[in-house]
Amino acid sequence: MRVLKFGGTSVGTIASLRNVLSIVEKASKEDRLIVVVSAFGGVTDQLLKAGLLASKNDPSFNSVFDAIKRRHLEVATAFGIEEETTSKLYSYLSELEDMLRGIYYINELSEKTTNRLCAYGELCSSLLITEAMKLEGLSVNRKNATELIITSNGKSKQTIRYAATNANITSYFQTSSERITVLPGFVAATETGELTTLGRGGSDYSAAILAAGVAASEVQIWTDVSGMFTANPKLVKQARPIATISYQEAMELSHFGAKVLYPPTIVPVMLRRIPIQIKNTFSPEAAGTLITHEGTERTLSVSGLTNIDSISLITLEGTGIVGIPGISKRLFETLSQQSINVILITQASSEHSICVGILDNEASFAKQAIDSEFENEIQLEKMQPLLVETNLSIIALVGDNMKNHQGISGKMFSTLGKNNINIRAIAQGASEKNISAVIASKDVKKALNALHERFFEDQRKQLNLYIAGVGNVGGKLINQITQQKQYLKEKLNLNIRVIGITNSRKMHFNTDGISLKDHKTLLEVEGVLADMDVFIKNAISLNKRNSIFVDVTASDLVAASYSKFLKQSIAVVACNKIACSSDYENYRNLKELSTKYNAPFLFETNVGAGLPIIDTLANLMASGDEITSIEAVLSGSLNFVFNNFKKEATFHDTVKQAQAEGYTEPDPRIDLSGIDVARKILILARESGMEMNLEEVINKPFLTEENLNSSSVSHFYETLKKDEAYFQKILGKAQKKGAQLKYVAQLKDGKASVGLEEIPEGHPFYNLEGKDNIVLFYTKRYHEQPLIIKGAGAGGEVTASGLFSDIIRMRTY
Ligand code: ADP
Ligand code: ASP
Ligand code: MG
Repeated sequence: MRVLKFGGTSVGTIASLRNVLSIVEKASKEDRLIVVVSAFGGVTDQLLKAGLLASKNDPSFNSVFDAIKRRHLEVATAFGIEEETTSKLYSYLSELEDMLRGIYYINELSEKTTNRLCAYGELCSSLLITEAMKLEGLSVNRKNATELIITSNGKSKQTIRYAATNANITSYFQTSSERITVLPGFVAATETGELTTLGRGGSDYSAAILAAGVAASEVQIWTDVSGMFTANPKLVKQARPIATISYQEAMELSHFGAKVLYPPTIVPVMLRRIPIQIKNTFSPEAAGTLITHEGTERTLSVSGLTNIDSISLITLEGTGIVGIPGISKRLFETLSQQSINVILITQASSEHSICVGILDNEASFAKQAIDSEFENEIQLEKMQPLLVETNLSIIALVGDNMKNHQGISGKMFSTLGKNNINIRAIAQGASEKNISAVIASKDVKKALNALHERFFEDQRKQLNLYIAGVGNVGGKLINQITQQKQYLKEKLNLNIRVIGITNSRKMHFNTDGISLKDHKTLLEVEGVLADMDVFIKNAISLNKRNSIFVDVTASDLVAASYSKFLKQSIAVVACNKIACSSDYENYRNLKELSTKYNAPFLFETNVGAGLPIIDTLANLMASGDEITSIEAVLSGSLNFVFNNFKKEATFHDTVKQAQAEGYTEPDPRIDLSGIDVARKILILARESGMEMNLEEVINKPFLTEENLNSSSVSHFYETLKKDEAYFQKILGKAQKKGAQLKYVAQLKDGKASVGLEEIPEGHPFYNLEGKDNIVLFYTKRYHEQPLIIKGAGAGGEVTASGLFSDIIRMRTY
């Protein structure tokens, strides 16, 4: 015999009921079946709601009742169920209505009445499903489970009387020869015939008890997901079904929140080694999960992740409890007297505090009871009144194999830490099958996804980007990401998603990732008014793992936002130089925040676009080298200008051309005044460990006063035209010496300077072409011949690719 259980999710709609019928029909050809059904999806909740409203004297219980009634009658009609059955249904419904009226009049809802009330869900569903099967031509009979399953009492915390139950089941199925027997799940009775229920989600348990009673060959739990997943698939998209799992693991997973299986279900079948299969009513061909005695040999250390929401932490704390025996005993006895379920316990080794995780709705009872139990101690100030924290959740790592692997908790906590998830309490089962942590409920989804990535996705990582500035460089960055997406996925196991984009006018978000090909249109058409504060708030509240803010602007306002991101452990990647060249305190603060919150702050493109200058410097410093001096040509724009400035081409025209080709900032004065180069050498000085500010960089400008004081970009060009003779003179002087003009940055003896230099032939700068940059690092190790980095140091493509490689660096982080 086989037991098939269909949950509320499988019998929720007329369409899903049709699936149920076809699954049962097929299975009945192979074996005799016991079919256990839940109430139609959501009906138990509705019954409880109606009861509660009635008990509060609220007449709106009537409309809830009407909805329940309608739902059942609709099913009856859809399946063409005959009058006789419908009259039985009507009599159930009128009993239910009477009961609700009674509750309404006496304003009381006892546990006993709640049980009877809830039972109608399963009584009605089993009635209709049986009839629908008959109409399909199946050989089927309905049996009320209250006549078979016997519990110790009518309270919510009862146990199954197995001797009586098994005897009932055996004798019934020995006498009945029906091919299919349908039973309502969830319901049972005491020895004296009082109706009881097996707890929320209890139909799974009914199925297991029946399976044990008839020594079935297997139990199939049919639900709305294809098995027990590595994490709740509704929260973790990447979660996947676990093919096989041991009873113990399944039990641990369900105890810690994997709702797909009601926790007590395992016990009766485990004793008889009856396998459980979890199957999907909406995709019957999917393999699902097989739960057996053995599980399988697995290389994975962790089998699954779970979460329990609506948790409160209660903490008993005080010097008065240190070393005094019996405090915990009194605490737990008080909780047990109140029938409060303890989900997790941690105690500081100082014995100074005991912390217990319980369900939110029991927290106020717990507080009352415990404060009154310890009234004396609280009055004598040996102890503080019970501390209650709410809106928490427990997340747990579960696996038989965890005990054989080192460092699992280390990985777990570092993953949570990197994602700025605060851990309120930790507990590890002595069996090492489970490590759990209490965190804020708002962080659960992020935590599960980050942990899932860490433990199940073969080092696969998803990066979530928020990009400010999608113009020239930003647009190229998005193109590069689009082009590389597949490669990164396949070769580096890296999945990059852009969640938010903004320019100075509009911003746009999509939590599942913006379609990059259409990003321009999306921004224009669906974008809302840009607001940096809102952009930051959204990025923070979306609370995604591995978040990165990318600044591709030249804006002060955007640069001022970095600290807000870093404090949320959101990494910052910037080509905007403003932050790193701003006041030293600000730069240092950002670096400190980056360390403190474990969030990379990367700005390789601040100097030399995509050239690996800052990274090389960081590696030199980290490996103990010391910088003695730096000589560099760091302005692609100025290099372009001076390489193209010839007698025949005026200085004015050369600058114009540089701007037209995108080699200068929109305001070319930022390049030509040397301020941009000064910022770059300042950043290199700081990265070499010096405390320096921009004012301290000696800037010997080659522009005239008039050029520098020009009122606008067009005015600036006019002044250039006027001063042509002056520029020709500078050029002529250099040419006479056979020298090249280069705008050079230097760091030497603790001083930084920038200025135009005449470079003689033979010098490494002499042949620097186009818009190239070059940096010479003289260090303790590279003292005779410098370490040289040279290459294209300006331009949209190379800057975008520098940003891109900073972003990809997060994969090993
Ligand atoms: P039924 O009504 O069929 O009994 P439940 O709602 O009780 O269904 O259980 C199925 C649900 O359990 C799934 O829809 C899923 O959201 C949830 N769930 C939580 N954790 C897991 C997990 N690890 N694997 C599968 N499902 C899970
Ligand atoms: N109908 C009950 C509930 O919703 C039992 C079950 O579905 O397993 O809790
Ligand atoms: Mg269930």
